[in-house]
Amino acid sequence: MEDSFRHKGLRKKLVDEIRSKGIKCERVLAAINTVPRHLFMESGFLNFSYKDSAFPIGAGQTISQPYTVAFQTELLDIKPLEKVLEIGTGSGYQTAVLLEMGAKVYTIERQHELYVRSKTLLEKLNYTPHFFYGDGYKGKPTYGPYHKILVTAGAPEIPADLIKQLMVGGKMVIPVGDSTGQKMMMVEKISETETRISNHGRFAFVPMLKGTSK
Ligand code: SAH
Repeated sequence: MEDSFRHKGLRKKLVDEIRSKGIKCERVLAAINTVPRHLFMESGFLNFSYKDSAFPIGAGQTISQPYTVAFQTELLDIKPLEKVLEIGTGSGYQTAVLLEMGAKVYTIERQHELYVRSKTLLEKLNYTPHFFYGDGYKGKPTYGPYHKILVTAGAPEIPADLIKQLMVGGKMVIPVGDSTGQKMMMVEKISETETRISNHGRFAFVPMLKGTSK
């Protein structure tokens, strides 16, 4: 669980790269600069930890590209103490970034192996979100409504259950599309019955799947 000077140096370069690609929020950049991404990688990919790319994390899933993590986090405009529901814990890297922003995080993963691994790792690193094993399409109504909802897998459409669990004035960021790519959509809940939806460009995510892995 070592975070050496070399790792810190590589992370600073990654932050510069992400800034040059257009991320402006200094709080987001500070969070990326703080979270030791190499600890979230599979051992075979350790040398690539601070490259701005997605990599396999097992169970056919990937750790998101740092730029994408920063982009989604910036769009969500996370404020300290906000309740954030994350769909797709995966490696737990994005979860750690949200926690560094001061959010209260509720994170759901449908792959049992990743749920167990990320829970163990994050607890070791003293990150304490609420972890759930389950199907993110349903959200987690018991703890809602949420100020923000972040979906980190490509969804075929915007799940109605998730809109229900958003506070009025809240925002959801969700990549919507199929295996050929997704559009980054932002859903702002402007009243109990109305939303405003905007498109923030094309991205590539693993698909959001129904049900759980076992
Ligand atoms: N935020 C993660 C991204 C992981 S990739 C990271 O930074 O590492 C997307 C994750 O979403 C995968 O782990 C996948 O298993 C999970 N996922 C896909 N469909 C899901 C669903 N319906 N509910 C919960 N998690 C889901």
